[in-house]
Amino acid sequence: MVSMDTLVSLCKRRGFVFQSSEIYGGTGSCWDYGPLGVELKNNIKRVWWRDFVQRRPDMVGIDASILMHPMVWRASGHLDHFSDPMVDCRECKLRFRADQVDALPWTHFCPATKGNRFTIPAGEPCGHCGARRTLCPDCGKGELTPPRQFNLMFKTFMGPVEEDAAVTYLRPETAQAMFVNFENVLQSMRLKLPFGIAQAGRSFRNEITPGNFIFRTREFEQMEIEYFVNPHDRVEGRPADEYWHDRWIEDCLAWFRRYGLRDENLRLREHDRDELSHYSKRTVDIDYRFPIGWSELMGIANRTDFDLKQHAKASGKSLTYFDEERKEHVVPYVVEPAAGLDRALLAFLADAYLEEEVRGEKRVVLRFHPELAPVKAAVLPLLKKRDDIVRTAHAIRDELSRFWRVVYDDTAAIGRLYRRQDEVGTPYCVTVDVQTVGDTDKGERADDKVTIRDRDSMEQIRVGVPRLTAVFGELLAGKRWADVAAGAAAG
Ligand code: ATP
Repeated sequence: MVSMDTLVSLCKRRGFVFQSSEIYGGTGSCWDYGPLGVELKNNIKRVWWRDFVQRRPDMVGIDASILMHPMVWRASGHLDHFSDPMVDCRECKLRFRADQVDALPWTHFCPATKGNRFTIPAGEPCGHCGARRTLCPDCGKGELTPPRQFNLMFKTFMGPVEEDAAVTYLRPETAQAMFVNFENVLQSMRLKLPFGIAQAGRSFRNEITPGNFIFRTREFEQMEIEYFVNPHDRVEGRPADEYWHDRWIEDCLAWFRRYGLRDENLRLREHDRDELSHYSKRTVDIDYRFPIGWSELMGIANRTDFDLKQHAKASGKSLTYFDEERKEHVVPYVVEPAAGLDRALLAFLADAYLEEEVRGEKRVVLRFHPELAPVKAAVLPLLKKRDDIVRTAHAIRDELSRFWRVVYDDTAAIGRLYRRQDEVGTPYCVTVDVQTVGDTDKGERADDKVTIRDRDSMEQIRVGVPRLTAVFGELLAGKRWADVAAGAAAG
């Protein structure tokens, strides 16, 4: 498995992710997506939306504002419960999540070695004196305070006056907008249960111990679905909420696999009873084997009717569904598949990363699924001194970029250009050479064909320029390289 340091450095070097406000020393746990990162992120979001909203007759989407009425957070329980227990070092004042201090390597001044300073791996005792950590893991000197609750919501003020009445919050999740818009969506779209509302957007959490690159940040994007079901219905002999919960777990897992995450890096983790949120009937996480170890990629919870009931109570509005068959009003149950976009991006990046040896040289390649790859093709002139080659290459790029993100590059020799594209996961390179345009001096006619090189197999085929758009249409829609190559060979 690739290390986090390798990914961070590749991301910076190749324009995927930069530290936010780096020239000022960086902002704590905020990251900026660069030119390739934004393409990758948009692709993941677009494919998610296409597969889970556009293609499904039972799904619709919304895009709600980040600033919501403060009552939303009172009713949802976030004001009272959305907190982590944290401890402070009395000496260096650093703050840690109480449940995570033991997962950190710790600093120890060992009495058995005249007070020498050691950094000891997380959870292990000192090899010299046998002591275990009791003090601050960072400075190794201060005592830690007892745990105190710390609310994770970012507070701000609405309007010009900074007074209590104007306090509002940046949303810590996108989900609540689906609950408070339940009635609007139900009525305007004339929906029948079961149906879901999806949203992809920014969320903010003042995490106490953020870190591990884009795994845990203070500003991030979520892709969430609230799937409403009639709790009185039964599907395949089971209560509808339980049936749909399992269906969503399967569908989400299948989705991550389809776009490149390998089976051995994915697992399901059932939450224990005592770990469940107070409103949840059952929660299952999809964990991914990140470079930092197994961690949550997304959660799929059965939130019952908790949220709709809470908002109905707090707003005084009825948030029910009229069941025509039974002639009764019901409060739907909701299944919530909640994924983090940045975490998904990190997982796709880690899984795609491959180092291999090709003819005695190291090749780094990101084997992104073509639909996720930030750049779909690079058009490269074999000789940049030949005007006709360069002109043709530009024309091909212009044509293909009507449909896809396609780049032109002539800043190095061809082998180097291939490697550069491999390293950012571009699935195909198109090379324009002398045969493409012909050589009048030598009396050679143009064959109007270019070479397409496949990133993964490094095989090449020759294809007529007029057919390029159609060929890329097939390749990028998932047709196998071998089949396209066979077609090209047959002429
Ligand atoms: P964690 O246990 O890692 O703090 P969570 O269980 O609080 O996550 P949820 O509230 O279920 O997370 O949010 C759904 C998804 O949003 C998570 O599975 C994760 O992918 C993403 N997410 C949550 N917090 C962050 C964060 N601080 N940075 C990046 N992504 C996050």
